Amino acid sequence: MIVDGPAPAGATVVDATGCVVTAGLVNAHHHLLQTAFRTLPGTRGIPMREWLPAMAAAYTAAGVDPELTGLAARAGLAEALLSGVTTVADHHLTWPSGADTVGMARAAAEAAAGLGARLVFVRGAARDDPQEAAASADAIVRALVPGAPGGVSADGMLQVAVGPAGVHSDPRETFELLGEVSREHGLRRRTQANEVVDVEIALDRYGARPLDLLERWGWLAPDVTLAHLCDVTDDEIARVSASGASATHAPGCDVPMGWGIAPVRRLLDAGIAVGLGTSGGGSNDAGHLLADARLAMQVSALVGPQLPASDVLSLATSGSADGLGRPELGRLTPGAAADLCLWDVSGVADAGVADPVAGLLWASPGRRPRTVVVGGRLVVDEWRLLTADEDEVVARLFERVGR
Ligand SMILES: [Zn+2]
Repeated sequence: MIVDGPAPAGATVVDATGCVVTAGLVNAHHHLLQTAFRTLPGTRGIPMREWLPAMAAAYTAAGVDPELTGLAARAGLAEALLSGVTTVADHHLTWPSGADTVGMARAAAEAAAGLGARLVFVRGAARDDPQEAAASADAIVRALVPGAPGGVSADGMLQVAVGPAGVHSDPRETFELLGEVSREHGLRRRTQANEVVDVEIALDRYGARPLDLLERWGWLAPDVTLAHLCDVTDDEIARVSASGASATHAPGCDVPMGWGIAPVRRLLDAGIAVGLGTSGGGSNDAGHLLADARLAMQVSALVGPQLPASDVLSLATSGSADGLGRPELGRLTPGAAADLCLWDVSGVADAGVADPVAGLLWASPGRRPRTVVVGGRLVVDEWRLLTADEDEVVARLFERVGR
């Protein structure tokens, strides 16, 4: 925990000379499994309607099981820590029928625990049988965080949440049954809404827009976070705001997929808590949240006034944490969790920078933190992972997917 005052006896002292210190970044929307399926031939520059079956075929060919789920999560979470992301919300959407779903969730949780990263495991659904999805979500909560208030483990390192992929993939029954599981255990709910294909399919299938459906199905509420929100009207923004739901911006996915740019300034001005996520390796191909913060700042000028770097940094820290119901994360205040990044700004890529905090985003694209602390524990130092052998993490994932 961050405390105000002198260092306690026996504390490790880290020299932060030449560094900007921020809270650990919080990636509010990732699909860690897709880390194993980056840059697959036939998945770039195609519409979402073709992208979904192309990715699904790759998942089927590889066989999604606890081993693959764990290895992909391990690589994605190692990448996260090395890029300053101390908490990842993993919206897991791929659950082959008959799979050991508790084993898959446990494998992701064990990968996070081994690396010292915080994980929010979101039991998602994408065309799953609604009853099976709900039973699996309930079993995952009971196995991973039994009796934990809000689905958050006592040490705060693991959280379980639920969420269908969206109204384009899942029927009302899935939303209702996962909603029941969330109420029973006090879990946060997350879904994806209003990327282009989501709006098209909702209109085709139901004659309504996604947010109308979510409202009818009980999924516009303060415990719900909506990822993407590219195509939203002023009226819809007002309704999201009135509902207390939060949002996650994911430009590193939305821009290359051609979905457009979420109007973040308008969402913030309406009083909506907005976080930042990378989305998954199948569309973004990277889990580097600071790189996407830079992108968010750059593209914001295409849909309104440009977002200042400090506002975008808030999206990637406190904004994301608020959507997860975790006010102790993403902040450098007494009482907050001790998740810290030290960004060395003494090098040539930062030479001439007038405002080092703005420079975190504007200068040195792709920068990585020199040192990362999670819950008071050093997990990255001198740009190296301390909790695992990076080469081994890479080799085991390549070996598992046969590349
Ligand atoms: Zn996504």
